[in-house]
Parts: sequence; C-alpha cells; structure tokens
Amino acid sequence: MNKKKGIAILGSTGSIGTQTLEVIEAYPDYFDLQVITANNNVDLLIEQALKFHPNSVVISNESHYKKLKEALWNEDIHVYAGEDALCQVVESTDVDIVLTALVGYAGLRPTISAINAKKSIALANKETLVVAGELITQLAKENGVPIFPVDSEHSAIFQCLVGEFHNPIEKIYLTASGGPFRGYSIDQLSKVTLEQALKHPNWSMGAKITIDSASLMNKGLEVIEAKWLFNLQSHQIDVIVHPQSIVHSLVQFEDGSMKAQMGLPDMKLPIQFALTYPQRLKTDFPRFNFMDYPNLTFEQADRNVFKNLDLAYRVMEMKGTAACALNAANEVAVAAFLDNKISFLAISELNEHVVGEMTNILSPKYDDFVSVDLSAREITNQKIERL
Ligand code: NAD
Ligand code: MG
Repeated sequence: MNKKKGIAILGSTGSIGTQTLEVIEAYPDYFDLQVITANNNVDLLIEQALKFHPNSVVISNESHYKKLKEALWNEDIHVYAGEDALCQVVESTDVDIVLTALVGYAGLRPTISAINAKKSIALANKETLVVAGELITQLAKENGVPIFPVDSEHSAIFQCLVGEFHNPIEKIYLTASGGPFRGYSIDQLSKVTLEQALKHPNWSMGAKITIDSASLMNKGLEVIEAKWLFNLQSHQIDVIVHPQSIVHSLVQFEDGSMKAQMGLPDMKLPIQFALTYPQRLKTDFPRFNFMDYPNLTFEQADRNVFKNLDLAYRVMEMKGTAACALNAANEVAVAAFLDNKISFLAISELNEHVVGEMTNILSPKYDDFVSVDLSAREITNQKIERL
C-alpha cells in the first residue's frame, strides 16, 4: 500500500468542506487528514477536530481562538488562529494536497502559499482563479503543481480530457441549471425576494454561491475559471442551460466529436475525483436511472436578462485586473443582498458600475490584486450607501 495522501481542507465547515470530510471518512486507508480550518463556525470546527484528529486546526477569525484552544487542550492537535496561520499550515511536509473550500477572495493568499510549497491543489474556491488566474496558473506551472478542479462543470471537462490531454479542445460547453429564476424577464427579476433566491432547484450549497447561481454570476465566474484551467479563449467557452443538471459539461474536439460527463448531481463525486485522480474509487452513491429522466433538455442562457453572465465575458476580454474588480464588487453586493440591504437586480447593476469605475491594470502583480480588490470593495460600499 502506498503512503496515505495528506489532505488539508481550507473551509472544512462549509458545504464543500463537510462533503470532503464525508469522502475522507469513507476511505480511511487512502486519506490522512492533516489540516482543517474555518472562519467563524468554531463549534463545528471543534466537533470535526475531535472526530478526525487532524494534525492542525486553524480558525481565521481570531476572536474564536480561546474557545477553540480550550476545547482541544487535551488533544494532540496544533491550534492556530488568523489568516497568516492559514498560509503556514498548508506548507507542512505531511500535506500532499490542499482542497480550497473557503469562499471568496480570502482563498487567494493561502492558495499561493500552497503552490509555492509545491502542494497539489484541489480547487473549489473558483474566486481565486477569477481574481488572479494568470498569476496562479503561472505559479502552478513554475512549481510543477497540478490544479484539480472540484467545481462540477470543470471536473466534468477534466474527466472528459483524461486520455486526451494531447488533443486540442475546439470548445467547451459549461452547463447551467438556470437557477430558481430560469426564464424570468427583467421585470420579474426586479421583484424576487432573498428567500426565493436562496432556493436552488438542484444543489444545496453555501449562501454566496447560491445567490451567484440565481444571478448567473456563478456561471460567469465559471467561464473565467474554465479559461484559466483549460487555457481557452472566450470564443471557445459556451454556456448552455440544462435544468436537470445531469450532463455536468461537455468538450468538443477538433474532429467535431463531443464528450460529456454525466451523473446525478452530487458534489462528492468531483471532490473525490480531484483527491484520487487518476484513480476512481468505488462508491455507493445512488446511480442514474434513465427512466427517472426521460427528457434531458437544453436552452440558451439569456445574457440580456442575466447581465452578470454577459459582464463576465466582457471582463474576461478586458484581461488585467478587471475580473478581480468584478469579483470584489460581487462579493460586497451579494453580502448586502443577503443582509436585505439591496434588491436582487442591484447586484448586477453594482457589478457593472464598479467594473466601469476601476482602472484596469494590465500585467498585474500580486500587490495590484490586493489594491484593486480593496478599492473595488470601497467603491461598491459607497455606492450601496447612496442607493
Ligand atoms: P460555504 O459558505 O458553505 O463554506 C465556506 C467555508 O469557508 C466555511 O468553512 C467558512 O468557515 C470558510 N470561510 C468563509 N470565509 C472565510 C474567510 N474569509 N477566511 C477563511 N475561511 C473562510 O461555501 P461553499 O458552498 O462550501 O463554497 C466554497 C467554495 O467552493 C466557493 O468558492 C464556491 O464557489 C465553491 N463551490 C461550491 C460548490 C457547492 O456545491 N457548495 C460547488 C462548486 C464550487
Ligand atoms: Mg459549478
């Protein structure tokens, strides 16, 4: 038996994080859990630490440190707090692969640390590639580090490419469920509530990505994520609405052949494949039955109504720090929507406004992303106050 794979999960208390722990629990001979981390949910983090006994535990929000430390004082577990600790724990020699399941821009710095320490990345935190795709993919190349996609669409593309890495991609189709507001007009969207937006038809996910799915920002972020993961131009990436979420995405090769990856929607499958590639481990997940889905349907995504998707394509063409600005505006806008401070349509309006206001820095360095993220957040907050 080979050495077990040492796993660090950044954001272990979230939707992806807890599902990753289920995968790890199912294969005790295969995985060795080294690190778990959370931002605020200290109670669940303590529960996870007592159950899994990782080497290290980090709470990003330092105000919870005392509680965490006291709860684990009698265990042989290192306990840390703060953002710097997040960057340090991923560098540990016993960590082989870092699964980035934290949400938003906060994933950027620890992902850079992990790549510099030559750890493989299982990437759920798409915002990191949206913000700084050029920097991250370049760093990964220099360090010989693979980035395995966890996002279901990108995992689908990756699974279609296994055995075909030498064949150029003509184009890819990212499937989208369409979210709870599929088929809505702008007028209908102007009246939707927070409660409606939080009800995703096919997936149960964290609050931020659930709102992003309803506004199609998530699909826009995924278009940019795909550009960096698979080295594509924008005209090679298409989005197709597929309400049943059975076909997880498709690749079209230069001979016109298309490959799709299918299955019942369950994030544990892409999580597991990212951690075990190139192996496929046996699971007892429910299997697909054609008679439950006699019709798989496909339709055009409406970029005139779901303006975030259109905006994502535009910022991708702008290059530089435009996508970083979009991501920051969107994080602030979604948080304000979740706080009942702004309407659903205001999210895309704010995103559009902030991208227009920000200077686009071409060939950005790390510090440029930090400053663009900060000013885009400020501009978004100021605009929200004036609404
Ligand atoms: P979530 O909100 O359920 O969990 C987020 C996790 O990150 C929690 O453990 C939280 O403590 C931690 N966290 C949040 N903010 C942090 C910060 N500032 N610093 C450090 N840690 C922080 O989110 P999720 O739905 O699990 O999504 C995680 C990531 O995976 C996102 O980037 C999302 O886009 C991506 N993703 C999620 C799904 C899904 O099904 N949930 C699918 C594809 C991609
Ligand atoms: Mg996805």
